[in-house]
Amino acid sequence: MYQLPVLPDGRLEQRIKDYKPAYSPGEAVTEANRCLYCVDAPCVKACPTGIDIPNFIHKISTANVAGAARTILKENLLGTSCARVCPVEVLCVGACVYNAWGREPIAIGRLQRFATETAIASQGLAKLVTAKKAPTGKKVALVGAGPASVAAAGLLALEGHRAVIFEKKAVPGGLNTLGIAPYKQSANQALEEIRHVLALGDVELKAGVEVVAGAAGAGQASGESLLKDYDAVFLGLGLGPDSALGASGEQGAGVYGAVELIERIKVDPKLVLNGVKRAVVVGGGNTAIDIAHELKLLGVADVAMVYRRGEQDMSGYAHELTHARKHGVRLVEQRVVTAFTRGADGKLTGLTMARAENGKPVAGEPEALSCELVALAIGQATGTAVAKAFPGVQVEKGSVVVDPKTQRTGHPKVWSGGDCVNGGKEVVNAVQEAKLAVRDMLRALGGK
Ligand SMILES: Cc1cc2nc3c(=O)[nH]c(=O)nc-3n(C[C@H](O)[C@H](O)[C@H](O)COP(=O)(O)OP(=O)(O)OC[C@H]3O[C@@H](n4cnc5c(N)ncnc54)[C@H](O)[C@@H]3O)c2cc1C
Ligand code: SF4
Repeated sequence: MYQLPVLPDGRLEQRIKDYKPAYSPGEAVTEANRCLYCVDAPCVKACPTGIDIPNFIHKISTANVAGAARTILKENLLGTSCARVCPVEVLCVGACVYNAWGREPIAIGRLQRFATETAIASQGLAKLVTAKKAPTGKKVALVGAGPASVAAAGLLALEGHRAVIFEKKAVPGGLNTLGIAPYKQSANQALEEIRHVLALGDVELKAGVEVVAGAAGAGQASGESLLKDYDAVFLGLGLGPDSALGASGEQGAGVYGAVELIERIKVDPKLVLNGVKRAVVVGGGNTAIDIAHELKLLGVADVAMVYRRGEQDMSGYAHELTHARKHGVRLVEQRVVTAFTRGADGKLTGLTMARAENGKPVAGEPEALSCELVALAIGQATGTAVAKAFPGVQVEKGSVVVDPKTQRTGHPKVWSGGDCVNGGKEVVNAVQEAKLAVRDMLRALGGK
């Protein structure tokens, strides 16, 4: 039987504290009692999975914690992760009516975290979701073990279908395990949620197996064989590796892709930052802010984010930048990195930048910035090459094309969801797309 990996101690993420620790029962009831239980509540409309927020908050206020968890998990099987990682400031909490009166909005994420963590720890996930249906004899293959596939697999299993997840990495969970900033969720917390989904039964995880188009070698399975051997296929491929700048001196020690570096901070005990006093992060999105913030929390004295436009143009959330700045991250705006500099021994010594207008370099003296580490957070490539194995599945601009109401692709047996479809959103979007896909799959496979 599959055993989830046990992550070794000594990983850098273990040094970073949880910034919104779980409420105590007393704190949760006090916060829940502030909710006005609005009719047509704007917080519900702002939740991509449509959780009945006033309903679960009311249950917390009456000490019905298991009932609150049931209300959450009915709409969002990964409600524990989402409670910790959702950008609530721009979703439910941002929509709470208290904001309009200049008062502190309800801490919906922390209440959700309290309810799901408490109830699942005491009863397990299986007792908090609808009773599992009798086996149907149908089986579904899911490619990738990120939140899209894990949520879809759990929902399919509850309907009596067998779900088999193929994951190319040794550690499952996709970016929810390997990418989330440690101050929001640790890799072990993400794995614990997967453990509960596997415990529903009829969910099998094959880690270290990459699904490929064409003939499969060792550690691979061919997409074509999945089409033949399974009643349906779900593609939860996520995105591909970090993009490179293509500047001179980029190749070599000291220059990392941000997603690769975050993964190592979370799971690789061999990564050490000894000797790194100054770090530069290139980019202005959420991944850039996350890695800059993490490096600062890990003790790097000077962490600069170099962004080619102005702060107002950044795609990263303003509240995340504010947190990162509070810990000392600084922003260098309107600069484009033109080259990386290295010493005679090949060691990274820094980079050069040009002034930028509208994101493009303009003529002038290059400026130098000394550093021992660079993280490139300028986007991720797409990872949809395997789609070729499924005739009729279309890929446009690197994303799998689906009908957004059903998440159906152009192949009648293939559905898809999450980052590989939406181009890279949040965990909660991956869960919602998985939900829509499963709803439609059930119609195709038989079931409700
Ligand atoms: C640095 C970073 C921080 C983030 N922080 C947040 C956050 O705070 N809050 C939030 O809500 N969202 C956050 N996100 C986004 C969130 O993690 C993603 O939206 C979510 O994980 C997408 O889920 P997914 O299942 O679609 O893809 P992924 O999580 O990427 O999972 C896809 C999985 O498929 C596997 N795979 C791919 N191809 C194959 C193949 N051919 N065969 C087998 N396996 C395959 C991959 O190895 C991977 O495990 C963050 C993203 C990044 C990069
Ligand atoms: S909008 Fe705010 S006050 Fe109203 S139901 Fe939602 S959380 Fe409660």
